[in-house]
Amino acid sequence: KTKEQGKNSYQFYTPIMSSEAALLLKLENAIHKGLERREFSVYYQPQIKWSSGEVTAMEALLRWEVPEIGLIPPSKLFAKASKTDLILQITQWILQTACEQNLAWQEAGLPPVPIAVNLSAREFQNPYLVETVARILQKTRLDPHWLELELTEKILRQNLRAAPGIFQDFHNLGIRLALDDFGIGFSSIGYLKQFRFRTLKIHQSFIRDLRGTSQEAALISALVTLGRGFNLRVVAEGVETPSQLELLKTLECEEVQGYLLSRPLRASEATPFLTQRAAQLNR
Ligand code: C2E
Ligand code: MG
Ligand code: MG
Ligand code: MG
Repeated sequence: KTKEQGKNSYQFYTPIMSSEAALLLKLENAIHKGLERREFSVYYQPQIKWSSGEVTAMEALLRWEVPEIGLIPPSKLFAKASKTDLILQITQWILQTACEQNLAWQEAGLPPVPIAVNLSAREFQNPYLVETVARILQKTRLDPHWLELELTEKILRQNLRAAPGIFQDFHNLGIRLALDDFGIGFSSIGYLKQFRFRTLKIHQSFIRDLRGTSQEAALISALVTLGRGFNLRVVAEGVETPSQLELLKTLECEEVQGYLLSRPLRASEATPFLTQRAAQLNR
């Protein structure tokens, strides 16, 4: 290959690739700086048993506030960051922050609840994922029992070889597993049999269109029965209105999460929320 050809192919092929690569490099730098400058924060959204008002879990959700740009939605960040290994660094930070927060709540005497952390498909290509999670649990000394990892069917679909073994490793470590966004993927029912999940989260699209006679109602009712059969806790995601909650009650879906109950809260808001709930339960 001559220098001349190299130059030509460079001119011919790279403008698109290099702009993509340049963007990713920029993103990498921004994430590094963001971590240093404390632009990242973890918000916490409660999952609640409506019959008692008891908090059954707190879900950690990433927020990234870039000065002069504003809030970058996690879906956008993870879609882009998924193309690099940086995602594991972010996850490491989220896990550590969330585990430490959970311990702080326990040490403050609040009723212990599991902390739920989301994982993305790309992370399952990293051979150090399990080790990373295990190391954070050791370092923070959080009992693995109090960590729940929220996994999607997409993770399994995109990591057919690696994911089953990793799910098993997590389970063996004593970590709880939740199947997130249930109902929108393919063939996820089989996964309930294959893996030992503790929690089934019904995707918010079913709740959004929920009316008394809707097909969504029939579907949720079926999913609740399914979850019961597998001894899982079933959580409806994205509950926004009182009428949705009323319907979920009649459908015997015992646990709910959504703006109606609480928006995702910064740590400084989540602690008083938990304190108040605990006080109400003791009354
Ligand atoms: P998810 O795990 O299914 O999280 C639920 C999403 O629904 C969150 O959006 C939450 O803020 C939002 N939500 C909660 N209640 C309501 C409601 O009543 N109505 C509506 N319309 N939305 C509600 P968010 O925080 O933007 O996160 C979006 C997705 O990004 C998450 O979906 C999760 O898949 C991913 N994600 C968020 N944080 C992390 C993270 O720390 N790590 C990874 N790997 N993924 C994350
Ligand atoms: Mg989730
Ligand atoms: Mg979800
Ligand atoms: Mg999700």
